[in-house]
Amino acid sequence: MKTCEVCGEKTKQRWITKIGNSKLKTCKNCKDHGKSIKKENKSRKTKKTKKKTSEKTRKSKKTTGKTLIPDYGEKIKRKREKKELTQEELSNQINEKESTINKIEKQKIKPPKRTAKKLEKKLNLKLYEKPTTPKYKSKNKKKKKKKTIGDVIELKE
Ligand SMILES: [Zn+2]
Repeated sequence: MKTCEVCGEKTKQRWITKIGNSKLKTCKNCKDHGKSIKKENKSRKTKKTKKKTSEKTRKSKKTTGKTLIPDYGEKIKRKREKKELTQEELSNQINEKESTINKIEKQKIKPPKRTAKKLEKKLNLKLYEKPTTPKYKSKNKKKKKKKTIGDVIELKE
């Protein structure tokens, strides 16, 4: 709750009021003492939150296409055990902390992309999956078209 700068009363909404030569934030009653300019601006906070959300959407756009598989921890653990590696050995091989591997396997943290790529290489597994399949279909169509062009050239020869 804000307080009026003139009478000190608590008020939900304040007005910026010109009294004499000074601008004061006043309550509804006190704005009548001077010349009311406008309601106190509340838009600052909303602007800030807007910026944050736009940054978030930008970030999520970058990572679209590939998503981390839901059971990445379990998969890493199984592959590691197949190769008879301890968490310590694996972490040494990919230059990560043992605790990081431990947390990833327990899915307490998501592996950073760089770490995930190293794990994928080392353990020969895929941690990311592409949710979009229709794109592949359009690619196949293009290939078919190219073949027909090739056929035409062959006929000319
Ligand atoms: Zn007041």
